[in-house]
Amino acid sequence: MKVALITGANRGIGFATARLLAKHDHHVIVASRNPAAGEEAAQRLAEEGHSASSLALDVTDPTQIRSAVADVSERFGHLDVLVNNAGILPEATEAEPGSDMDVAMFEKTFATNVFGPVAVSSAFLPLLRESTAGRIVNVSSTMGSLTDQSDPESPYYPMMVPAYRASKAALNNVTVALAKALAQTPVKVTSVCPGWVQTDLAPGNRQQAPTPSEVAAEVVAAAATLPEDAASGTFVDAHGTVPW
Ligand code: NDP
Repeated sequence: MKVALITGANRGIGFATARLLAKHDHHVIVASRNPAAGEEAAQRLAEEGHSASSLALDVTDPTQIRSAVADVSERFGHLDVLVNNAGILPEATEAEPGSDMDVAMFEKTFATNVFGPVAVSSAFLPLLRESTAGRIVNVSSTMGSLTDQSDPESPYYPMMVPAYRASKAALNNVTVALAKALAQTPVKVTSVCPGWVQTDLAPGNRQQAPTPSEVAAEVVAAAATLPEDAASGTFVDAHGTVPW
């Protein structure tokens, strides 16, 4: 049984991805910054007949990252799949009108959406290298695509969430850099846009977004189970390649 760790897996796309990978014969580690919520989510999966456990992991906390690596190392000795799913969009609720270039907002957003995945990936790399088919999935967004950001025809074009967009563009850059660094290893790295999804990431998503989490999870799980001959360092959504 393969071992998959999903950050921010207590709810939303992360939980749906954990459930889907569990259905595909993975032991899933529900990593969560709220240990009680993570344990509850893992128990829910276990009650459904899946192999699941939980782990406390705030991706902005270096001590918790170190403990998480030690725990997975001790219990499994390797990691097959890391899904960097945890993410925030504080501009949707906290932005001051007219403060589009608010450095504190950029710092807060980057801490979770960029530095988190960098720190977690870096810390788990030795365990991913122990896998015969290591996979890293960075849950990104088409809103981070520079092509999309400069296309006036894009439905996302008018949306002013510059810190979030910049964080996902930077995360995509991390995907490319990691894929290059790992080119001589079996580890593959993929950026994924899950679509516009019915979660609590932003107010209105649950009412307006067209995509249920269970559907969004399919593209994430596909990237987590890429075959050996698949390319590394790509950016995909449910329809195929997303332009950088
Ligand atoms: P949710 O808000 O439903 O879930 C976000 C998850 O991330 C929660 O489990 C949350 O934990 C966790 N999280 C936030 N900060 C941290 C942290 N510092 N450490 C660990 N976990 C953390 O949103 P989604 O499921 O929609 O988002 C998942 C990913 O999908 C994000 O990266 C988002 O940017 C991306 N995405 C979402 C889209 C959408 O339309 N929903 C579109 C494109 C991309 P807690 O419960 O404790 O808050």
